[in-house]
Amino acid sequence: ARRPRHFNEVLRRSVETFPEKTALVFEGQRWSYRHLWEEACSLAAVLQEDYAFDVGERLAVLTGNLPEFVIAAVGCSLLGGVLVPLNTRLRGPELGALLAHSGSRVLITTTEHWEQLAPERAALKELQGVFVIGDEHPQGPAGTRPWRDLLRGGHPRPVEIGEDSPVYLCYTSGTTGLPKGVICTHFNLIHTLLNYELVKGLSADDITLLGVPIFHITGLAAQFAQFLYQGGTLVLQRLPFRPGPALELIERERVTHFFGVPTMYIMLMNHSDFRQRDSSSLRLAASGGAPLPPDVVRSWTQKAPQVRFFNFYGLTETTSPATCLPDRYKLERPGSAGLPLPVSELLVVGDNHEPLPPGTVGELAICGPMVFKEYWRNPEATQAAFLDGGWFLTGDMARLDEDGFVHIVDRKKDMMNRAGEKIYCAEVENVLYGHPAVLEVAVVGQADPFYGEIVKAVVVPRPGQVLDTEELRTFAAQHLASFKVPALIEVRDELPRNPGGKVMKQLLRGR
Ligand code: ATP
Repeated sequence: ARRPRHFNEVLRRSVETFPEKTALVFEGQRWSYRHLWEEACSLAAVLQEDYAFDVGERLAVLTGNLPEFVIAAVGCSLLGGVLVPLNTRLRGPELGALLAHSGSRVLITTTEHWEQLAPERAALKELQGVFVIGDEHPQGPAGTRPWRDLLRGGHPRPVEIGEDSPVYLCYTSGTTGLPKGVICTHFNLIHTLLNYELVKGLSADDITLLGVPIFHITGLAAQFAQFLYQGGTLVLQRLPFRPGPALELIERERVTHFFGVPTMYIMLMNHSDFRQRDSSSLRLAASGGAPLPPDVVRSWTQKAPQVRFFNFYGLTETTSPATCLPDRYKLERPGSAGLPLPVSELLVVGDNHEPLPPGTVGELAICGPMVFKEYWRNPEATQAAFLDGGWFLTGDMARLDEDGFVHIVDRKKDMMNRAGEKIYCAEVENVLYGHPAVLEVAVVGQADPFYGEIVKAVVVPRPGQVLDTEELRTFAAQHLASFKVPALIEVRDELPRNPGGKVMKQLLRGR
């Protein structure tokens, strides 16, 4: 078959091929492909008619793993719009900053999150419409409407979009702690779908349970977009991920495919229902978003020998997967993130960006049609991210072995990874510096068997001040999503620095 040029062609094909097939399942409700398509068309028509929503404009969605997210994402694509998926764990000020930076014109959210945004609302000048799920009479400035208003029916005017048109604007943080918006084009997304199709071999018969959040690239591309592409079924589970309900859904919906971060596999295996529930339908499990500890693979293989198990490595900037360790190598190559996917290429470079030979550790660079084009409104960051020839610098330190398998060994970027959620140290440090008793602070990731890493802050108090660590944690929680709040706070007289004055964070990690 011809490669689709953009996501709307993918959608149309699945809707025409499988109109009555179940596309979406959520808490007992089911949407056929036709039903999903009609609701998405209605949403698109309302945004065109009531807001003159145009190609390239941004639609923000702050809902977590709800069916409304899927309807909005499909509708947005029909409009030629750019979906801005927001992390529901962020706090009001963090969300306000992303809504403003993205210049979103319309927001779809839930009552709970809309309330959380109350102090930020006045500053959101470009936001013209807000649709609230779960409330027939939502409070807010003029233009705040119930979700139901989006479902009044209708079909959008067809729009012109090309391969290079953006489809998603996904936020990551940067080393400076300021948000960076990754623009993913239809071309990028289509190539991620092709990559997955070639490697995972999913078909229209597959039933996917979405374990990971739908607002991160893995949930977005690997699950949501992929199930539509294959004509499969997507089962949604409310966030945060809980293993008991997941096992129940696997049994009840005869789930065949699950994608989770390593922490979710630990949760599933340790749950008392793991043996009680029937999970015989499951044939493919994939892990991604964080380093996969070899002992998690070993225990999973013992406990679920019939399930093929894949490890995917990638970034938002590579529209999710760039490499994969397929099932047949899972025990043979412990700790490896596998081989490049069919449409991706890898290069390991040294300090001066010179290519390094196999076996040498350097920064991993990635090239291919699924690599993003630019950061939103940030040409400096875009320029710094690429080498000549379109090689994207990942900020991960890696080595390729003699057979071409990649091993991610460390990070160059000052980031940590707590159960798949990425936390930029600078962002946490900036907040802690705002506390009056803090003179100096360094934030690092401390190795943890369950979360992978947890946030640790090493703090030097101002002279004469007593630092109450509980109070500092409460202070941090007012400004930061809970997963970014330091789990450990250590008070010291000074921070270890090298002769250049740089904090030697490797001495603080306690590994
Ligand atoms: P998601 O945000 O959906 O979890 P993601 O993890 O692919 O997707 P980012 O949030 O941009 O994307 O995080 C990318 C970083 O995550 C990588 O630079 C790397 O440090 C880490 N990472 C992702 N997958 C793996 C893996 N399989 N093994 C080791 N590290 C990984």
